[in-house]
Amino acid sequence: MRRKIVILGATGSIGKSALDLVERSPERFEVVAVTAATNSEALAEIARRTGAKLAVVADESRGGDLRTRLGGTDCSVASGEVALIEAATMDADLVIAAIVGCAGLRPVMAAVEAGRIVALANKEALVTAGDLMTEAAERHGATLLPVDSEHNAIFQCLAGSRREDVSRLILTASGGPFRTTAEAGMREATPAQAIAHPNWSMGAKISVDSATLMNKGLELIEASYLFGVPSKRIDVLIHPQSVVHSLVEFVDGSVLAQLGSPDMRVPIAYAMAWPERIETPAQRLDLAAIASLDFADPDTGRFPALRLARDALEAGGSAPIVLNAANEVAVASFLAGAIRFTDIASVVERALAGDGGPAPSSIGEVVEIDRNTRERVRDMMKAVCT
Ligand code: NAD
Ligand code: MG
Repeated sequence: MRRKIVILGATGSIGKSALDLVERSPERFEVVAVTAATNSEALAEIARRTGAKLAVVADESRGGDLRTRLGGTDCSVASGEVALIEAATMDADLVIAAIVGCAGLRPVMAAVEAGRIVALANKEALVTAGDLMTEAAERHGATLLPVDSEHNAIFQCLAGSRREDVSRLILTASGGPFRTTAEAGMREATPAQAIAHPNWSMGAKISVDSATLMNKGLELIEASYLFGVPSKRIDVLIHPQSVVHSLVEFVDGSVLAQLGSPDMRVPIAYAMAWPERIETPAQRLDLAAIASLDFADPDTGRFPALRLARDALEAGGSAPIVLNAANEVAVASFLAGAIRFTDIASVVERALAGDGGPAPSSIGEVVEIDRNTRERVRDMMKAVCT
């Protein structure tokens, strides 16, 4: 029996890697639904290639174009937010959640409430609705499999062990393109420089997050919710080679790590085939050729985003949602050339300063806090820029 797969965010970096794995193991996987934000041309091509039964474009104005492009196939076409949820809850064995940002929240929650196995790349969904998401997974019998390489590494290290035997999680971070750049240089950093990640090829937003270390901050929050471990027992370790993808320390002092070349197809494949493993084309690790691996503590002076994320996790309530929303708006402004690279963390810090709201009790409340924060941050940036 082939495993039926839904790919939310099929046109993105994670989506394409997942499709590559499907095409390498056609006897194991069958794509039943694919979605994208606006690119109906790329989505139609993917739907034709995979023989998907449903293709959904989030942007309603692209629905007609998608329908025309898929004319003559037996693939159903839909558009808009509600249709994304239809794709997320379609009869399937696995949902790959690879939409970027808070836009993925409702579809991921819908898949969880339908009791699906969810391969979760969309870290913003866990950051903004971590408790709601893990509680719903338990209630509805859903399984959350982490795709983010660090969390996937931890998940692999935890296999077969008792949770009470874990003493610490250690998330590794490459340090991004500005790991050794002086503060003055970071002020002048351009979007092109920020996106040029030394080890990983990823979408634009997460690449900027890796450059500010906000990505590691979001991952800290993600890890805390996913594995039920508090902030004080999660460390961040700079490791420029991105070979050790994360580590788990146990009460007896043993430390387990997962290693591999930096290729997202490895963690994606682990989630897709779980609990089995499948072949991937990832380059084999040659430790003798690499010769040495380096580790260092992060510099929270030059990378305040990491400190802000830890503070937000410890503050709880609405703080992680505000952190994430302010960051999404600030990163988009930076990519549009409207603010400096170093302004991203300042914007997030200012957004957090005025906020101490309670934890949301529903996804609707998460969405509302997210929307209000975005408005507040946009107004704040307008006031600063004029
Ligand atoms: P990407 O920008 O390359 O792709 C994003 C996908 O989401 C696209 O298919 C896009 O069409 C879709 N999308 C964007 N906005 C949408 C909206 N409003 N409504 C519906 N669909 C929308 O991003 P990516 O790098 O593939 O990252 C996807 C997620 O995985 C992110 O949450 C990211 O943090 C996480 N992640 C990515 C990597 C990586 O290597 N790329 C690694 C770890 C985690
Ligand atoms: Mg990661």
